Amino acid sequence: ASGYTLMRDPRYNKGLAFTDKERDAHYLTGLLPPVILSQDVQEKKMMHNLRQYTVPLHRYVALMDLQERNERLFYKLLIDNVEELLPVVYTPTVGEACQKYGSIFRRPQGLYISLKEKGKILEVLKNWPQRGIQVIVVTDGERILGLGDLGCQCLPITIDVGTNNEKLLNDEFYIGLKQKRATGEVYHYLYTLFAIYMFQKVRVVVAFFFIQEYAEFLHEFMCAVKQNYGEKVLVQFEDFANHHAFELLSKYCSSHLVFNDDIQGTASVVLAGLIAAQKVLGKSLSDHTFLFLGAGEAGTGIAELIALKISKETGTPIDEIRKKIWLVDSKGLIVSSRKESLQHFKQPWAHDHEPVKELLGAVNAIKPTVLIGTSGVGKTFTKEVVEAMATFNEKPLILALSNPTSQAECTAKEAYTWTEGRAIFASGSPFAPVEYEGKTFFPGQVLLLFTANNCYIFPGLGLGLIMSGAIRVPEALASQVTEENFADGLIYPPFTNIRKISANIAASVGAKTYELGLASNLPRPKDLVKMAESCMYSPVYRNFR
Ligand code: NAP
Ligand code: MN
Repeated sequence: ASGYTLMRDPRYNKGLAFTDKERDAHYLTGLLPPVILSQDVQEKKMMHNLRQYTVPLHRYVALMDLQERNERLFYKLLIDNVEELLPVVYTPTVGEACQKYGSIFRRPQGLYISLKEKGKILEVLKNWPQRGIQVIVVTDGERILGLGDLGCQCLPITIDVGTNNEKLLNDEFYIGLKQKRATGEVYHYLYTLFAIYMFQKVRVVVAFFFIQEYAEFLHEFMCAVKQNYGEKVLVQFEDFANHHAFELLSKYCSSHLVFNDDIQGTASVVLAGLIAAQKVLGKSLSDHTFLFLGAGEAGTGIAELIALKISKETGTPIDEIRKKIWLVDSKGLIVSSRKESLQHFKQPWAHDHEPVKELLGAVNAIKPTVLIGTSGVGKTFTKEVVEAMATFNEKPLILALSNPTSQAECTAKEAYTWTEGRAIFASGSPFAPVEYEGKTFFPGQVLLLFTANNCYIFPGLGLGLIMSGAIRVPEALASQVTEENFADGLIYPPFTNIRKISANIAASVGAKTYELGLASNLPRPKDLVKMAESCMYSPVYRNFR
């Protein structure tokens, strides 16, 4: 390629780092100023520039611009400065970026598959220039972080079936389809209409074309993905609303390699933290009573994994264990008298108890030792709630997992102050260390985690599956990851070690796939950690001769 093209392709561009030889060989001489900078100096310069921005969103935009200009430098920055930059490209700043995505949109970074492409999804996939895709992260934008329906988004693949977010529908900068979401509910709507007509003895023919439009569209997508990228492509469902998430996972787990980060990834990372905390408490998981605020993907996913783990450890039937795990949803404590009207994923958690409406009431009635927030609603662990936890627990475990920071159930400072410094606290989005009565508290550190966030899990998990050539995701994989890495003290904070952490997770995921005969990359490599490390991306510039 000519130098001019080389310079404008983010995958090849090295900016001022092109050497004299490369400038010579690729007709770049004169197209660049004479100085030659190393990648390290470029990195230093970019970090310096980024730090000038005081508005987090500006840092986000600057990083996206860099990705658009020079991919390797972008990833080098991220890898070398992950603790500083993760809160920019991920929670909390990414939350604001998602909310304002239309107005900060520059160039698309992924694929957009909207209802307009119905019947042609395979063709759309073929428009993507790279072949050999191994992992697809896909969203439909209906439950982004704890911010709700944000419609068309910035993930690798966005399925655009419309949005119910009025603000976006009226936003002239919005980039998605301006229509209400297609759902299976259209069916109910049509059915109701149909029933009304029938009742009035009006003869009508309703075209049931829209029946289950959503499910059909997703099915087309899932089939096209397999057809285009093969049997072993990993599909990671990200930030789908729970009325689709559980169904999609169970529908496709036997035909595709699928993983739901919000259900399975979160469960894994939280269980890891809880296990680590037992060392500090001198207790075991089975000593605890758990109460969740929020009974959706994250809440029930974590609850199920905890129950599974304790059941395995103690040999007690899982139904028995479940009785010590309680969940509160938007209607109050989940109890058996509500059973008929509960979504199926909540039903295992409907225990015998009188109805309780408010969280505080539930806390006082259940007296949990662990309180976990997964509702997506901020400031719900009030002073009263946290103080109650501190009255019947020497060291209350408090996890405020909702993202971004604005939706956190309470802040680190609140957790420590309201418990007189006795809480063991972790959050989904990072908080700065807290000073309390002369002592410094590092949120999440006792839990061996910088933040309790599934970003610890999914990169390694994906790598483990693809490097072993997994044909299906092994069952109970989430607990596997936890047991073999976090619990054995293989993993230490901070997040700067994420590449090492991911290599270890990948190795144990790989080991499990081989053990279960689900791996297709044979023979099994001896050293799976080494294997994982060798599969990882390196952002160092290549030489173009
Ligand atoms: P979800 O499936 O929509 O579940 C939300 C749950 O919260 C539902 O059960 C809902 O009740 C309940 N809820 C909503 N408002 C409530 C209120 N005012 N009082 C009590 N309960 C309320 O969402 P999700 O996927 O579980 O995610 C929830 C939150 O967890 C999000 O903020 C997300 O960012 C966070 N999360 C964090 C991580 C992490 O790694 N730290 C991972 C995944 C998710 P109904 O069922 O009655 O509607
Ligand atoms: Mn998520």
